[in-house]
Amino acid sequence: MANESFDVVIVGGGMGGLNLAALLTNAGKRVVVLEKAGRDQLGGRASSGKIGGAAIDNGIKGLILAGSQDEIFRRIGKSMPENVCRWTNSGEVHMHGKWRKIDEMVRGSIAEFAKIYMSTATEWSYDEIERLDDISVEQFVTERTQNPDVIDFFRYLGWLFGGTLSIPHDYSAGMLFYSVKKQFDTLGEFPSKSYWVKGGSGAIAGPLIEAIQERGGEIRSNASVSRIVIENGRVKGVEVEQGQRRVPTELLDTQFIEAPVVVSAVAIWDIFSILSEDDLSPWYADRLRHLHRKTLNDLTLTFGHDDPTLWDHSGPRWVQKGPVTGRPWCASSLEYSDDAKEYQATFWIQTGWWEKPDIFQIREASHKAALNKIFDDWEGDIRELFPGIVEKAHWRLRSFGPATLIETPGNVGRTLIDIKAEGVDGLYLIGERTSAAKVMGVYGAAQVALVASDMIMERLEKGA
Ligand SMILES: Cc1cc2nc3c(=O)[nH]c(=O)nc-3n(C[C@H](O)[C@H](O)[C@H](O)COP(=O)(O)OP(=O)(O)OC[C@H]3O[C@@H](n4cnc5c(N)ncnc54)[C@H](O)[C@@H]3O)c2cc1C
Repeated sequence: MANESFDVVIVGGGMGGLNLAALLTNAGKRVVVLEKAGRDQLGGRASSGKIGGAAIDNGIKGLILAGSQDEIFRRIGKSMPENVCRWTNSGEVHMHGKWRKIDEMVRGSIAEFAKIYMSTATEWSYDEIERLDDISVEQFVTERTQNPDVIDFFRYLGWLFGGTLSIPHDYSAGMLFYSVKKQFDTLGEFPSKSYWVKGGSGAIAGPLIEAIQERGGEIRSNASVSRIVIENGRVKGVEVEQGQRRVPTELLDTQFIEAPVVVSAVAIWDIFSILSEDDLSPWYADRLRHLHRKTLNDLTLTFGHDDPTLWDHSGPRWVQKGPVTGRPWCASSLEYSDDAKEYQATFWIQTGWWEKPDIFQIREASHKAALNKIFDDWEGDIRELFPGIVEKAHWRLRSFGPATLIETPGNVGRTLIDIKAEGVDGLYLIGERTSAAKVMGVYGAAQVALVASDMIMERLEKGA
């Protein structure tokens, strides 16, 4: 096949790649997105599958901090899918052995809470907040108050932003306040509630795909990039595998696609499958090596049922210490179909890169056993704290995967990588996660796309 050429090649059709492609095609650039998975998995970790008639999310459930995603839809003339719903209350926490409403926890200490939370997020500059990158939330809060309700509230925020594993002593204060400030600046409100897409989070990718195609951009699925081609410190294009393997051992031929700008939108833990360390400047390669598998891994347990009385669906729940697992976890119940006849009770536990199971070694028997043990114990937690959910479910799904990079002090902020790859002209890395988009998830993917699109436009205007 003859070589092709584009202004920009984007490797990876997750939310990062699609957001960036939508912005660049909107600006009149010739863009191709190459996604190794099938068409129904566009959106990557934000795509959805099906169980019977019900959508089931591959990765994300709740959209937290979606301000930058809203901004991209506004710029490309599209909108969030209509079936985006919000929880109507901030939920409940199970702490110190009992359930408590989050609103009530804050009410009694509102002045003290406001002083620490709101004034840091609004009055401090981003630079000042960045100086908190290597301080834990716990240290930051306990230096300012001994009020147990305020400390507990920050524990809850640690979960809200960093996940169940990033409890306050292990979660960066810089990350927390950066995220809070950023949402306040982009949405004009403090984060309190998350939202989800009825019918599956995969729907968020729909308007982006539409926008890319309407403006002449191309999206190719089942297109696996085998290598980004770099010569003499300049990006040349990519090699894409051709055809399907006839035997698992087959080394496929490749097609070269030429472009002055190549963007890797694959997750940072996949980066060395398409990029050679030798092509990068040594310190940038070292930084990537240091970060790339320091992940926060998400274990998800979902139960499908049709009984609306089993659970109040209006807010999320947080458990500080499961009675059997001893682990923190969180839960939400979603009305998953428009006629609300299908409900999904979803539970998350997070594990860290240093412990078993190591998601990247999951083929090893001991890691599989550790993974199953967590799920088995966890069902014990759920039977105790959410009676009826396990017993009345029509179906149950256990899933797992790397969710993001861990947000411990020392692994955030300026230690993250820059979007522009040091030492290679025309190469940009936007996969989870960069110093320009510290926050995780769909919001982070949108944020990094906004910054990268400006940088790439400038690079293309300048020419070779
Ligand atoms: C279980 C789980 C739960 C999560 N929960 C939440 C949540 O509740 N809220 C939230 O905001 N975020 C959540 N996240 C995180 C969120 O899903 C990600 O941060 C976000 O979707 C990342 O988007 P991305 O485009 O950077 O990466 P990805 O979605 O991983 O996209 C990368 C794409 O690159 C493709 N690719 C890889 N290698 C190649 C190659 N060689 N050639 C071509 N294509 C390639 C992959 O197939 C993939 O589609 C969760 C993640 C997981 C796994």
